[in-house]
Amino acid sequence: MYSDLSELLLHQYENADTSVQPVVPPAYISSNFSFTTVHDFRAALTDEFNHTLYSRGHNPNVSMLAAKLAAMEGTEECLLFSSGAAAVSVVITALLKSGDHVVCIQNPYAWSARIFTNILSRYGVSVTFSDASDSDALIKACKDNTRLIFLESPNSITFEVQDLRKIADFARKNHILTMIDNSYASPVFQNPHALGIDLVMHSASKYINGHSDIIAGVVCGSRKILEPVFRSEYLNYGAILHPHSAWLILRGLRTLEIRMKKSYETAIELVNFCKSRPEFEEVLWPFLPECKGYEIAKSQMSGCGALFSVVMAEKSRNKIERFCNALKLFKMAVSWGGYECLQFPVLASVPESVYNPENKRHRIVRLYAGLESPEILKNDIRNALNSLK
Ligand SMILES: *Cc1c(COP(=O)(O)O)cnc(C)c1O
Repeated sequence: MYSDLSELLLHQYENADTSVQPVVPPAYISSNFSFTTVHDFRAALTDEFNHTLYSRGHNPNVSMLAAKLAAMEGTEECLLFSSGAAAVSVVITALLKSGDHVVCIQNPYAWSARIFTNILSRYGVSVTFSDASDSDALIKACKDNTRLIFLESPNSITFEVQDLRKIADFARKNHILTMIDNSYASPVFQNPHALGIDLVMHSASKYINGHSDIIAGVVCGSRKILEPVFRSEYLNYGAILHPHSAWLILRGLRTLEIRMKKSYETAIELVNFCKSRPEFEEVLWPFLPECKGYEIAKSQMSGCGALFSVVMAEKSRNKIERFCNALKLFKMAVSWGGYECLQFPVLASVPESVYNPENKRHRIVRLYAGLESPEILKNDIRNALNSLK
């Protein structure tokens, strides 16, 4: 029995059981954290960066995940966001002001380009997009008011590679910030901060979580850059990661290294298989010697992901669609980096009236190999190709 229902419902039987020691850290699904003295409460209120006060700032599960990711990328700090798009938007908005200029690679992830073209353009920030495979051209595109160089290496449809050491070296000498979308390589295969890049961003919706059930974003960098971002835009926009998602990503991380190794092995098999098929005019993957960025990729990545593209030799839109429709295991969907194989035909994003058979990009089908055995994936591709006969 109880003496007061409200006390029962709100307060009783909730003491943490300290007699057990869970192997897995508990999920701290709590919006706020309490203090026993005004002194301690005041300290937290006046310095949220260094205290756990409210889950829009710090939360224990989010902090555990941030600490692991910062350690993996070799940075002092890491901020987590509700999506990769939020990670880019919040941090970039924090770093730029009216009158600044940005140099960005051509064709980054679409929503990364849009923060510059659709949103920051209204606040007086200008942008120059420059060939992602030409690091010298990216450097030449910088002006006196360039504040940021935004990179994505490799990029996730055509896999252009930038020379990170060279660009970072130039940027540091000229007091320009550098930020890279490192989602493709994951922190297992590429650590751009060690090469001099200031900020390393990930869509954790891809490899880092790895199970196609969470949307999340990451930015790693120095305390000097990220502490002011935390105290201002991070807290103000509130595009935070839910503690339950952070807890699940901590689980996903446990297999990150073995998933990346498997990805790399499967990619080698599938890329070589696709290269052997005359139906594909070209295969795009950074670790193929014939790819333009091969030498640089090898010098800055210790492995390569299982996301690659094939350029169909077939020029007929209908026939390319028939091939895509015939793939059974490769589900047609956006995203990648999960356990399941996927396909993204570029022509799905090209209106019929705009389709140009001579434009190689329009004939690209991006493939992602999941954790399936390479044999069944090769069979699926083989069967879909045979259906074209
Ligand atoms: C998916 C993706 C993003 C955006 O991340 P979200 O978590 O979907 O917001 C950014 N960059 C790359 C390379 C991506 O693949």
